[in-house]
Amino acid sequence: MSEGLYCPPGDFHIDPVRPVPRALVTHGHADHARPGSEKVLATADTLAIMALRYGEDFCAERQVAKLGETIDINGVRVSFHPAGHVLGSAQIAVEKDGLTMVVSGDYKRRPDPTCRPFEPVACNVFITEATFGLPVFRHPDSGEEIRRLIASTRQFPERTHLVGAYALGKAQRVIAGLRAEGYHEPIYIHGALKKLCDFYQGRGIELGNLQPATVEGGKRGDFAGAVVIGPPSAFADRWARRFPDPLAAFASGWMQVRQRARQRGVELPLVISDHSDWDELTETISDLKPDEVWVTHGREEALVRWCQLEGIAARPLHLVGYEDESD
Ligand SMILES: [Zn+2]
Repeated sequence: MSEGLYCPPGDFHIDPVRPVPRALVTHGHADHARPGSEKVLATADTLAIMALRYGEDFCAERQVAKLGETIDINGVRVSFHPAGHVLGSAQIAVEKDGLTMVVSGDYKRRPDPTCRPFEPVACNVFITEATFGLPVFRHPDSGEEIRRLIASTRQFPERTHLVGAYALGKAQRVIAGLRAEGYHEPIYIHGALKKLCDFYQGRGIELGNLQPATVEGGKRGDFAGAVVIGPPSAFADRWARRFPDPLAAFASGWMQVRQRARQRGVELPLVISDHSDWDELTETISDLKPDEVWVTHGREEALVRWCQLEGIAARPLHLVGYEDESD
């Protein structure tokens, strides 16, 4: 299991953590999509995102998986289905001899204007993550979290609202969420977000007026009361300290854990997650009624126990290399 999920009859890996001869990739987050494999099969959006992040030579041979279309690999039938996680994200169904397994990758069930919603796929074995696989994890309505951000900009019009958000998916979802709540001011983005925001806009996802978040001489005042979005890593550097009286916000499912917010010095925690919370995980399993559930990573034990109490066989896979931080 050290290279991720491997399908012996098909001779392919799904989301391998090391380069392999043939990789099927669920989505573009760095812990699932790594460069250097020989052949990569993924949705067109995921392939494009990998090329943006790693360069055009991230693999020797690309193959596009159209959603819902079946592809034969060494006698194994594979198909890709929306996962509702980030743009391009897919679950991968693998079928041989009448047995269907679905590798869901990362997924969520709640509405997200920046990607296609999760589609349940009937299966014998459902392979799921459990990043937020504890009953204490219940994500609030994300519109409510966005409205708290907008209210804060009105309450503190002299302070720059610096919002930490992962570059792929979360940043665009926060921006689209602000627009959906009627926030039409320019939104300032860190340079590390530009390529992906441009890509989303090119794919028809409306993000409105985006401006570079660069502070030049005498223009600091422009950022008073403004929303500035950057990757979490940028908040440790000098970039973040150039803004007037910055107010640190962070959009992550982990912000439900107040201790994590405090450790990061986050003044305005926004509980916005691209992963399923406990209810989404358990409702998905209840909807699918698979014969068996395999749990790849996260809080595996609690979800396995829940399945067993529901009369569904389940086991943890303890896969390593998938970071629960990337939410
Ligand atoms: Zn992910």
